[in-house]
Amino acid sequence: MKKIAILGSTGSIGTQTLEIVRNNGDLEVTALAAGNNIDLLEQQIREFRPKLAAVWKEERAAELKSRVRDMDIEIVSGMDGLLSVAAVPESEILVTAIVGMIGILPTIEAIKAGKDIALANKETLVTAGHIIMPLAKERGVSILPVDSEHSAIFQSLQGGQRKALHKILLTASGGPFRGKKREELKDIQVEDALKHPNWEMGRKITIDSSTMVNKGLEVIEAKWLFGVAVDQIQVLVQPQSIIHSMVEYEDGAVIAQLGTPDMKLPIQYALYYPERRYLPGGRLDFAALQQITFEKPDMDTFYGLKLAYEAGRRGGSLPTVLNAANERAVAMFLDRKIGYLQIPEIIQACMENHKNIENPTVEEILKTEQETYQFIKNRW
Ligand code: NDP
Repeated sequence: MKKIAILGSTGSIGTQTLEIVRNNGDLEVTALAAGNNIDLLEQQIREFRPKLAAVWKEERAAELKSRVRDMDIEIVSGMDGLLSVAAVPESEILVTAIVGMIGILPTIEAIKAGKDIALANKETLVTAGHIIMPLAKERGVSILPVDSEHSAIFQSLQGGQRKALHKILLTASGGPFRGKKREELKDIQVEDALKHPNWEMGRKITIDSSTMVNKGLEVIEAKWLFGVAVDQIQVLVQPQSIIHSMVEYEDGAVIAQLGTPDMKLPIQYALYYPERRYLPGGRLDFAALQQITFEKPDMDTFYGLKLAYEAGRRGGSLPTVLNAANERAVAMFLDRKIGYLQIPEIIQACMENHKNIENPTVEEILKTEQETYQFIKNRW
C-alpha cells in the first residue's frame, strides 16, 4: 500500500485524487486537509478513513470533530493543522492540491519530513522555487508535477537526456477569450470568464486561464521544476488542449505528450511514477479530431503573461508580488468589486511599486505578500 496525504482534498484536484484512490486498490489515505467544506470532508473521512484531518477554521474543525466522534480520527485546525497533515509520519507522498501561497509552509514541512511531493499548488514554486527545489534535492525527495503541462514536460523528458534539453514548448488553450482584443474584454462578467473551453477546474485557476496569468505562473513553475531560464520556455497556443506540452532537444527532435484533457492522468502518473496504470476514460481518436492547430499567444491583449515573463526573468520577490496581486485581484473580480481588465492593471501597478528582494527568505516572501495586499487595499 502506498500511503498518501492530501492538502485541499475537497477541491477539483483533491476530489480527482480521491477518485484515483477509489479506482486503485493499493493507495491508502493517511490524512486530509480542507478549507471550509466540512460536509464533503466528512464524507471523505467516512469513505477513506484517514487517521488525521485538518480544517482551516477552529470553529469548523470543532463542528467536524463532533460529527465524526464515532470514528478513530484526530481533527486539527489552522496552519499547525496543515503542517501536521503535511508531515504525518505514516505517509510517503503529499498531494499539494491547496490553492494559493498558503501551500508554501506545509510543502517545506513535508519535504523536511522526507515526503515526496505531488505538486499541483503552483503558487508555492512560483514564489518559493529557489527554496523548495534545493531543499528537495538536499533531502532526496522528488517533486512530481501534477499540473498537466508540467507532467507532459516531465513525461517527455523521460525520452532523452536532460543535458540535451534545448527548450520547452508550453502549450496553452488560449482560454475563452482567445482571438479577442483588449477593447472587447472590458465588459466581461464573472460567468463569462468561468467558462473554460476544455478544462473543468477550480474558480481561481479558471479565471487565471482566461487572463493567461495561469500560463505565466506555469512558465515560472517550469523554470524551477526543470532548471531552465524563462527564455528557454516558449508558450504556444494549442486550442484543442490535446498536446499537453513538448520538449525540443539539441538535435531538433521534439517529444510531446498528448491525451484527452483529463487531470486524472497527470495526478495518477505523479502518484505511481514511473509506473503507468490503466486509467478509465476517453482516448484520443485522431481521425475524428482531424486537426491540431497552433497560434502565438497575444501578449498585448493578455499582458499578464508578459508581466509573468518579466517577473520570472527578474526573479527574487517579484514573482511573489505577481502572484499575490493576481490572487487578490481575481478574488475582487469574483466578488464583482473590480472589472475584468483591472486584473492585469493591478498586477502591473503592484510590480512597478515593489522594490525587488533577491533570494527572499520564507518570512520575506510572506511579508511581501502582505505588503502587496495592503498596497491593493489602499488603492482599490
Ligand atoms: P479548488 O479551489 O477547486 O480547491 C482548493 C482546495 O484547497 C479546496 O479543497 C479548499 O478547501 C482547499 N483550501 C483552500 N484554502 C484552504 C485553507 N486555508 N486550508 C486548507 N485548505 C484550503 O482548487 P483547484 O483544485 O482547482 O486547484 C488547486 C491547486 O492546483 C491550485 O494551485 C491550482 O493552480 C492547481 N492546479 C489545478 C488544476 C485543476 O485542474 N483544477 C490544474 C493544475 C493545477 P474548501 O473547498 O473546503 O474550502
